[in-house]
Amino acid sequence: MSSAASRSSANGVYYNYIGGEWTPAADGRTSENHDPANGELIGQFPRSAQVDVDRAVAAAKVAFDGWRLTPAPKRGEILYRVGALLAERKEEIARTLTREMGKVLVEARGDVQEGIDMAYYMAGEGRRLFGSIVPSELPNKAAYGVREPIGVVACITPWNFPVAIPSWKTMAALIAGNTVVLKPATDTPLSALKLVEVFADAGIPDGVLNLVCGTGAEVGMPLVNHPDVAAISFTGSNDVGREVNVAAASQLKRVTLELGGKNAIIVMDDADLDLAVDGIVWSAFGTTGQRCTACSRLIVQRGVRADLEERLLARVSKLRLGHGLAETTDVGPVINASQRERIHSYMAVATGEGARILCGGEPAQEGDLERGNFYRPTLLGGVTPEMRVAREEIFGPVLSIIEVGTLEEAIAVNNNTKYGLSSSIFTRDANAVEIAKRDLATGIVYINAGTIGAEIQLPFGGTRGTGNGHREAGLGALEFFTEWKAIYVDFSGRLQRAQID
Ligand code: NAD
Repeated sequence: MSSAASRSSANGVYYNYIGGEWTPAADGRTSENHDPANGELIGQFPRSAQVDVDRAVAAAKVAFDGWRLTPAPKRGEILYRVGALLAERKEEIARTLTREMGKVLVEARGDVQEGIDMAYYMAGEGRRLFGSIVPSELPNKAAYGVREPIGVVACITPWNFPVAIPSWKTMAALIAGNTVVLKPATDTPLSALKLVEVFADAGIPDGVLNLVCGTGAEVGMPLVNHPDVAAISFTGSNDVGREVNVAAASQLKRVTLELGGKNAIIVMDDADLDLAVDGIVWSAFGTTGQRCTACSRLIVQRGVRADLEERLLARVSKLRLGHGLAETTDVGPVINASQRERIHSYMAVATGEGARILCGGEPAQEGDLERGNFYRPTLLGGVTPEMRVAREEIFGPVLSIIEVGTLEEAIAVNNNTKYGLSSSIFTRDANAVEIAKRDLATGIVYINAGTIGAEIQLPFGGTRGTGNGHREAGLGALEFFTEWKAIYVDFSGRLQRAQID
């Protein structure tokens, strides 16, 4: 086992970042990471354990006072540098991200761009972090509320936005004055490591941001349970989110959960169908359907169902699968073999319940595709709202088409799942737009656009089973990463009693 190094890797072996040093897992264990498009080895990453978590949390704890007492505008200056460095390295990091996660390069650039946007946005918050000043009910007394950091925060992230989601979490946490331990998904440690490299180059003080790679059981849960971790920001699946929530609740820790989705696009008879087709294809098959906001249900009004289905079939069957770095590729691989199997298992579920596979419905294995985890973009017709494919998150390139008669029925079908992340409607009817804005019960609503494409200055998150009511991004993120402190300054020189005098 080598000791701490000043570089993030040597000979294809990558390190954790703890207390400002790049360091292997304490017991030297590693795990391999592979390109999902062709199986090539990307590198060896630390398979960390409790002892590494303990070290990272201890480093973050030691760094907390220095960081919280650093003026927020100065913290912001570091984030401005992070934004500039990310922009400089955007292409290199995007290419790494595509190799590691599979999404096509143009989308990988967008993933890194979200990190850049968030860096600048949160850097600006360093000069705001507004509190509130209110009048006191007593004379010669000041009353105001200020936002304070919470302490050491654990950020646990999924693989589908390997730079954007770690950026959303860490940047909001850091500008507020918290110190952070980041645990990236096991399938995408390198993208997170690149982000942390940028922070290190931008001058983040030692211990303020730490990276610990490894599994959910060996790193994630020990972080959640660590007595010195004050808050957990988690994005991932509902099953794991529930576990995290239960563990955190028993220790009275605050936790934010950003979980799954079963997002729908509604297309009304009066919609611009060309526009709708573009929005549907982008939302359902972009990122190979592996966005939490991906459209997995098309709710279409009866009058245009057949026409829309035909247009979609023509478009979807022409989508080209391949490596995300190839310019000709429209749709990359899915993240790993077990996820591909899971997606495929839904085909029997769908047909067993009476749905029809209109196209796709099988792994793609011809030629070079055979080396990767490719699945054909799939349209399922004749789906009804009760079917499992209409209710469960599949997280792959599969779109279920559900026919409805009216706007009210469309909205009811949209709202009738356990998730509530994103929804959209294509219509030219101004009244329908207003009703949809009011009644679509999701955290994000799009009008005449697909279900994906959130911007970082607005709150992001969902209703019902998509989370626990918190929001990421926008100013909502600061609500989670700060605690309010109410301060009373009595300058009357005598005892004044609130509610009594
Ligand atoms: P996942 O739940 O398997 O893993 C998420 C993270 O949790 C990973 O870092 C994983 O290692 C860790 N983890 C696993 N078990 C753990 C445990 N017992 N304790 C603590 N941590 C543990 O999810 P995934 O497969 O990486 O991501 C896909 C899911 O994420 C989908 O359901 C998707 O909808 C969701 N997602 C939601 C949002 C959102 O903002 N709502 C955004 C992106 C992805």
